[in-house]
Amino acid sequence: MRQKCLERLDRIVVKVGSAVLAGKGKLRRRAVERLVADLNTVREAGIDVVLVSSGAVASGFRKMGLAEPPRDVAYKQAAAAIGQPLLMVEYAAAFAKYKTHIGQVLLTAEDLECRPRFLNARHTLGVMLERGVLPIVNENDSVSTDEIKIGDNDHLSALVANLVSADLLVMLTNVDGIYRDGNPTNVLSVIPSGRSPLKHVDHHDKSTTGVGGMATKVEAAMLAGKWGVPTVVANGTRSGIVESIIGGSPKGTFFVPSPRKLSARKRWIAFSLRTAGRIIIDRGAARAVGAHGSSLLPSGIADVDGNFARGTQVQIVDHEGKVVARGLTTYSAAEIEQIRGRRTKDIESILGYTYGDEVVHRSDLVLLDDPNESA
Ligand code: GLU
Repeated sequence: MRQKCLERLDRIVVKVGSAVLAGKGKLRRRAVERLVADLNTVREAGIDVVLVSSGAVASGFRKMGLAEPPRDVAYKQAAAAIGQPLLMVEYAAAFAKYKTHIGQVLLTAEDLECRPRFLNARHTLGVMLERGVLPIVNENDSVSTDEIKIGDNDHLSALVANLVSADLLVMLTNVDGIYRDGNPTNVLSVIPSGRSPLKHVDHHDKSTTGVGGMATKVEAAMLAGKWGVPTVVANGTRSGIVESIIGGSPKGTFFVPSPRKLSARKRWIAFSLRTAGRIIIDRGAARAVGAHGSSLLPSGIADVDGNFARGTQVQIVDHEGKVVARGLTTYSAAEIEQIRGRRTKDIESILGYTYGDEVVHRSDLVLLDDPNESA
């Protein structure tokens, strides 16, 4: 399976963590150069590379006179603002040896939730790749707040893999892969599709330099897998690791993706947007929506949960609490409250207007077949 997934790669996203790039509040030039040499070989093989790089906070905090990475959000944001250009200068110098230009792309979750901005970012990255420029993405830390931040670069890398329709996501860390039962001599080599190894993962296993631990990597790999992108988690401190992975070496932990392919728009609906509320449907509607992907009509709606506006993303939940689908709602929660259980031809007389028969139109609906997902 691994070999089959890696057979034809046109475009990959490589995510590198601070633990690989920096130590004791300083970027390690050798580590940057090693990674850049590796990525250059991949590019020479005709594969587009998008790099998602952490390391801004780790390279900036000492310049603020701090001995340890800050915990306070404003301090972290300031450290990122100081460290980000230092990081880019290192990358620019290292890539210049290969006559490769780089471009900086800073993103927040809000950017990727807003369809026009998502498309803009997609086009920008597309043009950079077309012109042979290597995009380097990081979270826009200095403007992120808890509300709008993506949270960690592992998650961001999965969103970027979707954004650029990558064929593979490689997450580089400072260990050899995902360990079984926290035992470093026992690296899991393949994780079957949709099967989270999280029960084997130590959630507290956070590297001191980086933000995420293994848990965030597993979650990001599972997310990428849902929209058909395979992920390899591997050791970025080893030279030539990305080249050897794409060459078929069984290094690291390979996450088999879902065989289901969704359009980029449907992936955006299901996975880039935050859920604003829930629509609870009856058995008949669960059959129609779940089995046939039919549009959701008011008659099949039993209840509504949350206070959402029209056009936002909602979960569609069956009577047992299982999330059957996600979709963009044509009606607000307040409107659905009034028309639920009623016939479509009554919508106009109840509300005094209508946006159409469907509460969630089938073209805005994405079925979820993950049995582990709950509301
Ligand atoms: N954006 C942060 C940085 O560059 C790191 C976030 C992460 O490592 O997940 O410092």
